[in-house]
Amino acid sequence: MNTIVQHLTEVHDRIAAAAGACGRREHDIQLLAVSKTKPVADIEAAYAAGQRQFGENYVQEAVDKIMALKTRCPEISWHLIGPLQSNKSRLVAEHFDWVQTVDRLKIAQRLSDQRPVHMRPLNICLQVNVSGEASKSGLAPDEVESLAEQVSALPGLCLRGLMTIPEDTGDEQRLGTQLLELKQLFDRMAEKHPQLDTLSMGMSNDLELAVACGSTLVRVGTAIFGSRNP
Ligand SMILES: *Cc1c(COP(=O)(O)O)cnc(C)c1O
Repeated sequence: MNTIVQHLTEVHDRIAAAAGACGRREHDIQLLAVSKTKPVADIEAAYAAGQRQFGENYVQEAVDKIMALKTRCPEISWHLIGPLQSNKSRLVAEHFDWVQTVDRLKIAQRLSDQRPVHMRPLNICLQVNVSGEASKSGLAPDEVESLAEQVSALPGLCLRGLMTIPEDTGDEQRLGTQLLELKQLFDRMAEKHPQLDTLSMGMSNDLELAVACGSTLVRVGTAIFGSRNP
């Protein structure tokens, strides 16, 4: 077995164990393989092992990979998980399946307008800044509801859920508090928007905690593909 395949197995085992430990079903938690900075050969190796959802951070790098893999890996669902500038929105609307980093109406409107009519609506997660750090992008929790209303009305988009990148802290309790805050916000929103099914949180180092806090999609890079070159 090559390393990537072995790592994928290990990550699935971690998800299964974390789910079991809190009485959840393994299949309620999806794995997004974060392939930023990694070559297409790595993505193909993961695809051959059954992985179908991939996350990228940089628009141009991602579009190059999407084009390169279009015929070889036709079942990939591509998620943008990095920041999105307005001038790149058309490329994103034309090539991605998901954008997890929407945090303002202007970007949402552009993505909706620019989504080609022959494609399915672009799936959207609103990015929420749960730690309140000034340097972080994302909505404040009390801004989420009103943007959710507005995004739901856009024809080229399908609002699917919430995403967060929590504080980079070794303090598990602090991290858990932030993740649970997002879970509670998600549950409140899902009452009004029944199509919401995605709570995107958890990475290589904290996926167990994120699963315990209700994550439905963990975004894992390093634990699958190894460390990234800067
Ligand atoms: C890079 C990245 C990840 C993956 O992080 P790892 O620690 O390598 O698993 C997840 N989410 C976002 C938003 C990222 O930018």
